[in-house]
Amino acid sequence: MSKRFVIALIKHETNTFSPIATPLSAFGHGNGPSYGEDARAAFAGSNTAFAAFLDIARREGAEALTPIAAESWPSNRATRATFEALLQPLEEAVRAGCDACFLDLHGAMVVEGCDDAEGEILRRLRRIRADLPIAVTFDYHTNLSPDSVANASVITGYKTYPHVDMYEAGLLAGDILARSLRGQVRPVMAWGWLPLVSSVMRHAPEDGPSGDILAYARAMEKSGRVLAATLLPGFPHADTPYTGVSAVVVADALADAVVDVKAAQAAAQEVCERMLAIAWERRAEYVFHPEPLKESMARARALGAGRHEGPILLIDHCDNCGSGGTQDVMLVVEEILRQNLDDVAIAPIRDRLAVAQMVEAGIGSNVNLRLGGKTDMPAIGLAGRPLQLAGRVRTITDGEIVFSGPMYTGLKSHLGRTAVLDTGRAQIVVTERHHEPFDLVIFRHCGIEPTKKRFIMLKSRIHYRAGFKPIAAHIVECAGAGVTNADLSVYRYGKLARPIYPLDAI
Ligand SMILES: [Zn+2]
Repeated sequence: MSKRFVIALIKHETNTFSPIATPLSAFGHGNGPSYGEDARAAFAGSNTAFAAFLDIARREGAEALTPIAAESWPSNRATRATFEALLQPLEEAVRAGCDACFLDLHGAMVVEGCDDAEGEILRRLRRIRADLPIAVTFDYHTNLSPDSVANASVITGYKTYPHVDMYEAGLLAGDILARSLRGQVRPVMAWGWLPLVSSVMRHAPEDGPSGDILAYARAMEKSGRVLAATLLPGFPHADTPYTGVSAVVVADALADAVVDVKAAQAAAQEVCERMLAIAWERRAEYVFHPEPLKESMARARALGAGRHEGPILLIDHCDNCGSGGTQDVMLVVEEILRQNLDDVAIAPIRDRLAVAQMVEAGIGSNVNLRLGGKTDMPAIGLAGRPLQLAGRVRTITDGEIVFSGPMYTGLKSHLGRTAVLDTGRAQIVVTERHHEPFDLVIFRHCGIEPTKKRFIMLKSRIHYRAGFKPIAAHIVECAGAGVTNADLSVYRYGKLARPIYPLDAI
């Protein structure tokens, strides 16, 4: 009889300072969760852990049950009812009987009344069946909890930022679990956590200590000392007791047909401790020091006067919709226009009302809009402030896109109705839904060729590098404002485990 594998995806990176709500409809990249065959169809063949789990099931000749696939872009806590609606199909599938469960989770999900949603998901599954084999792949921005580790058999995570190895991370976790079901390996895990809130702006392997830690982790995997070694630099915009830098390592207790749990545990522990020791020794490198916006923009303007192969990127990182930003803070756009930068493409500003006004006016019409600034951010004491702009409606689209770049390759997404406002100097992509710009399709689907522009402004922090770094002549980080500000002093944390670096002197 063939095995039954339950494969599910429930992902949300929760920014507890974000004013954006997370209804059930926000999952499925804005179209609600997909279930059963639809879930399989939406993710099969894509660069995701979910797709890797499907491939493992096929390889193992197992029946793959896909009760739910639900991913929302980052925003604030979902309600308990929404969380239960996400969890119910998964619990039902496990209750109906299965041999193993493969989960594509984020690892920084906070829901109403629960600071550790992934821990709760895993706890609940193990409550149905205490010895259920479970493989989990987490995002790089996971705040790892003791319950997550205690209730999973195998945990892996991405080793890239931008995350272009989601499939690979899924394959690693799924393969270890599948082999353990065949009695070929016996996974044991060790993990550790540091009182260290690291800035997302310093998470990329090329920027801070992460690169060296990841190189060590890969070397340990390659050597065969451990099966999987994962660094999780954490998500600092989720205010929870688990927020911090962590690592989790899987080792094999079944070497040469001898079961030696103690030796495997010791190997996993040693690798884990070494990874975290590098992070702690170099913790000062995880702190981001922003440059004042006026200076960044003047520097960009001077760069723009020269001749370049490719555009200069202006990175509006404090309002990154891919981490819970409202995507409508206009500070950086305002500074671009104030310092008279020319030939600029901007994406995306989220403003449902402005899109409606442009659609109503029609392509080719001149409009005068109060663009963006519709959302207040009470958690950081910031009020929304629109920018009055005149321009021509250049393009209107349905916002249906497919990623062809290295991130989420092959996956469909939905911007909602999208309109381009052309102010003469700047072409601004305005969308109904929030979406991080990590793929050139964000411009190309509405008729803007990004490689031909002098400047490109992106509401992103690091993921833009997946699609845009290869075409860029220069990159200028612009510190605007918003709920993804790299200056941690703007947040009123209440639940962090204290003392914690760099907020406390440790
Ligand atoms: Zn991430």
